[in-house]
Amino acid sequence: MSHELPEGLHPDTLAVRQAVPRSVYGENSEALYLTSSFVQPDAATAARRFAGEEEGYTYSRTSNPTVTSFEQRLAALEGTETAIGTSSGMSAILLMCLGLLKAGDHVICSQSMFGSTIKLIGSEFARFGVQSSFVPQTDTAAWKAALRPETRLLFAETPTNPLTDLCDIRELADIAHAAGVLLAVDNCFASPALQRPASLGADLVIHSGTKFLDGQGRVMAGAVCGPRAIIDDKLAPLIRSAGMNLSPFNAWVVLKGLETLNIRMQAQSANALQLATWLEAHPQVARVYYPGLASHPQHALAMRQQSGLGGAVLSFDVRSSDPASGRARAFHVIDSTRVCSITANLGDTKTTITHPASTSHGRLSEEQRQSAGLGQGLVRVAVGLEHIDDLKTDLARGLDSLT
Ligand SMILES: *Cc1c(COP(=O)(O)O)cnc(C)c1O
Repeated sequence: MSHELPEGLHPDTLAVRQAVPRSVYGENSEALYLTSSFVQPDAATAARRFAGEEEGYTYSRTSNPTVTSFEQRLAALEGTETAIGTSSGMSAILLMCLGLLKAGDHVICSQSMFGSTIKLIGSEFARFGVQSSFVPQTDTAAWKAALRPETRLLFAETPTNPLTDLCDIRELADIAHAAGVLLAVDNCFASPALQRPASLGADLVIHSGTKFLDGQGRVMAGAVCGPRAIIDDKLAPLIRSAGMNLSPFNAWVVLKGLETLNIRMQAQSANALQLATWLEAHPQVARVYYPGLASHPQHALAMRQQSGLGGAVLSFDVRSSDPASGRARAFHVIDSTRVCSITANLGDTKTTITHPASTSHGRLSEEQRQSAGLGQGLVRVAVGLEHIDDLKTDLARGLDSLT
């Protein structure tokens, strides 16, 4: 009944095939095991399973077959030994930090990480005695200089939101390993369809399943991918105690999303490149940030590291003669759209448009935003699957009517 997949299959095949064995009914679409607990054949088996001496499901906070299917399929795509599902991307980061760090330890992060990541590590973990340094994403020397004897983890995100800065994963992995510390990479933006951090030396890969993995903006989910020695030995026992487990229903939804991840990322990246190229030529656009453009300062690295694709997220600065009008001009472009959704989410088949300075990065001070190069005229677009001509028309409506 269970038939093992042959070795060496392509990621496209694993994305639709890798899962736990079929049940007795032989279902072709993976079953959704919406159950909190599992009936045990007898008391002695229950005892062995609870003690971890025998494989077998007991309770869905510990593990669930639908969640296992998602974990196996994501691990296959990322090329890691295993993965563990979590209730959201942030709980994946929480789980990793709880599992790897203790009071007195030190973490180095990029200063352009996802805002909640900076808050969680820089503020919340600081309350428990974990120290952190935040360094410029692209400055390898700064990562090196921030190393201390207490450093346990380097944590990067590439490309970043919203300015699409990259870091060279292999270079960071070498720096981490030379210092005897781990490198974790948040792979939300590129996804394994474009970039596999583990193949470039990263020890752990973090996901928000909420974004491109689901791909249709439906559920919250997350995962940590990595070696069994970390995932099974350190993180799995912790999730059993701490309970940030992924719901089977959400796991099932994201599992279905993974089947189309590759073709979505190809199509959305192609749309994004066309839109970025068009925006770059528009007289009311001062600058476009998109790794797929030759004008991106790290274009060569992006092409090498991201399978020749720029990804589905781009940002642009609306041209304005004085800095004070940037915000109003960006709002005009956003409010003139009729197709794009005005929302801070991304990774959806529906194109979303947002003003980072007043939403995702609204809690930063103006000074912090300026030092990050994040202006009031900046607009971020997470490009979906609509026809490219409709997206251009949607943005042209606001851009062409700027005076
Ligand atoms: C959204 C996001 C997260 C957090 O994921 P949630 O599922 O919203 O908790 C983490 N990192 C990046 C890069 C993200 O875009």
